[in-house]
Amino acid sequence: MSDIIQLLPDAVANQIAAGEVVQRPASAVKELIENAIDAGADKIRLIVKDAGKSLIQVIDNGCGMSVTDARLCFERHATSKIRKAEDLFAIRTMGFRGEALASIAAIAHVELKTRRVEDELGTLIEIEGAEVVRQEPAGLAAGTSICVKNLFYNIPARRNFLKSNPVEMRHIVDEFQRIALAYPHIFFSLHSDDQELFHLPGESLKQRIVHVFGNGYNQRLVPVEEETTIINLKGFIGKPEFAKKTRGEQFFFVNNRFVKDPYLNHAIVKAYEGILPSDSFPLYVLFIEIDPAKIDINVHPTKTEIKYEDERAIYAILQSAVKRSLGRYNITPTLDFNQ
Ligand code: ADP
Ligand code: MG
Repeated sequence: MSDIIQLLPDAVANQIAAGEVVQRPASAVKELIENAIDAGADKIRLIVKDAGKSLIQVIDNGCGMSVTDARLCFERHATSKIRKAEDLFAIRTMGFRGEALASIAAIAHVELKTRRVEDELGTLIEIEGAEVVRQEPAGLAAGTSICVKNLFYNIPARRNFLKSNPVEMRHIVDEFQRIALAYPHIFFSLHSDDQELFHLPGESLKQRIVHVFGNGYNQRLVPVEEETTIINLKGFIGKPEFAKKTRGEQFFFVNNRFVKDPYLNHAIVKAYEGILPSDSFPLYVLFIEIDPAKIDINVHPTKTEIKYEDERAIYAILQSAVKRSLGRYNITPTLDFNQ
């Protein structure tokens, strides 16, 4: 008998990887906006049609790509963000695996337009069926625009199992809001079917929270700030009387990355013990900064889970800092924290 193992063609490997990275339109939105942030953009516009099922477009004013890079960015494991294994312990960018664009190009029609400031002409590339079908120089604004059309066109099972437009749109808005909260100094807008849902100028974190959730929130926030040798913590927590019956207003970021962490969430909620009914959930938008060598973000394909070296210490710091902020607020509830 002859040998039977073969290496899969790239297109097939990419399609398999795409199943993990891109679960729904919102996952593509997240990857594209994170790329714009990594490119140093301070203006990022998101346009979607049909809840991202027919179009997701992200336009940024970041560093753009050279002709060669514009082509290479669609290859798997092609990245400008890390070069060697040690770099994995010092990650400061949102991306680093070089998987997103290869995955997206394997399961959608993609049009990339990009120009670096120093180049006279930019590059336009169209990809269909994981093949480049058009590449030409083009006069373009500096920065990058990526259009992702007909997501999952070649994976009927995925396409058919997408939820209704309102549900998929909710996921997109969730991703958009998380990133918008993490980068308040960046201008973001979101257009859905020609309607502008968000228009967020560069601003302070507090202004951004109010802009995202509504004017009433101006009066609901208590600042949290703590510097320790392990982490720096900052952000806002909600006054107990405004706690909601759902978790929708709880945001925890590690080195500006939104993560879901039931253990550390517990530390925050525990600080409210005794002043909140057990079935209500306080608002929080909290950021910890930590040495990237002390965490591993390479745990989950969407990077929403992190492993920490000092999890217990972080728990204790979070809980006591939140308690202290609440204590200050309780002693002087009329104090204006706005300044
Ligand atoms: P990763 O973000 O993990 O590096 P991606 O597949 O998302 O992988 O992107 C591959 C590469 O393409 C990036 O490393 C970057 O060099 C380039 N790139 C992607 N999007 C942009 C963008 N909006 N502006 C500039 N360069 C980009
Ligand atoms: Mg990326």
